[in-house]
Amino acid sequence: MGREYFDPTPEEQIIVLVDSVTIARAERLIESCEHCNPECAEIPFDNVLDRVTGADPSVTDYILEYPALCPYCGREILENTLVEPT
Ligand SMILES: [Zn+2]
Repeated sequence: MGREYFDPTPEEQIIVLVDSVTIARAERLIESCEHCNPECAEIPFDNVLDRVTGADPSVTDYILEYPALCPYCGREILENTLVEPT
């Protein structure tokens, strides 16, 4: 009882809540997504978020306040959606 609460990862993982301002900024840095442009979309959206927030990608996880939208096709983009940067 209770031992399940032990966290096996010693690394300090940072959870960043991505607000609407940051989402809007990140949307400006993408051209298309894996839905409308599978050939060119090859970086995950959280990679773009690293650039916008300046956070350390090795310890940062993102939670989107709401999904970003692809500027080209308007489909939803989540943390792990592949996108084409501008
Ligand atoms: Zn798209």
